[in-house]
Amino acid sequence: MDYTDIAGQLCKTCHLFGSRRWCLATSGNFSARVGHEQFLISQSGREKSELSPDDLMLCDLDGTALKPEQIPSAETPVHACLYRLDENIGAVLHTHSVPATVLSRAAETGVEITGYEMQKALTGVKSHEATVTVPVFDNDQDMHAMAVRLTKAWRDGRIAVPGLLIRGHGLYAWGADIATARRHIEGFEFLFECLLNEDMRR
Ligand SMILES: [Zn+2]
Repeated sequence: MDYTDIAGQLCKTCHLFGSRRWCLATSGNFSARVGHEQFLISQSGREKSELSPDDLMLCDLDGTALKPEQIPSAETPVHACLYRLDENIGAVLHTHSVPATVLSRAAETGVEITGYEMQKALTGVKSHEATVTVPVFDNDQDMHAMAVRLTKAWRDGRIAVPGLLIRGHGLYAWGADIATARRHIEGFEFLFECLLNEDMRR
């Protein structure tokens, strides 16, 4: 897939997520790998439901802008660290939905999910009987420090699903390509809504 196709797919995904109210008030950020050493990411402060290819920019795997006059999303260090950790990651998507935000505040170290058919939307999960644990990390305004914590957790094997929550903040999910990362976000968001609805019925 060439640069234009990747930019188009990324924008389409942003618009879809915007219509679902998963990235209000310019929140959220979206990226996709271009070649081996670069990724395309939304620029800081852009309205995601109206994102155009002009709102995207290239960074290297350290998260440094290729064009210094462009300012990438403040959370670029998290995207960059995921691309460095796994060369098979082709896209990283980050949403700020109400269910993900609320659940992340209630959990201590992880959100456990079992019994839902939708778990199979996550790569590697074969049955509703599996227990999926989505790790939760404390929020931090220093995204470089956050990336260091995530890297350690990854190397310690504490991130076993293609996603994680940041407390009071939102969801990150990734995949081999934009379509897979989108499926993961949709699966997680569906499951989080189910869990919240279960809580309300208690
Ligand atoms: Zn965020």
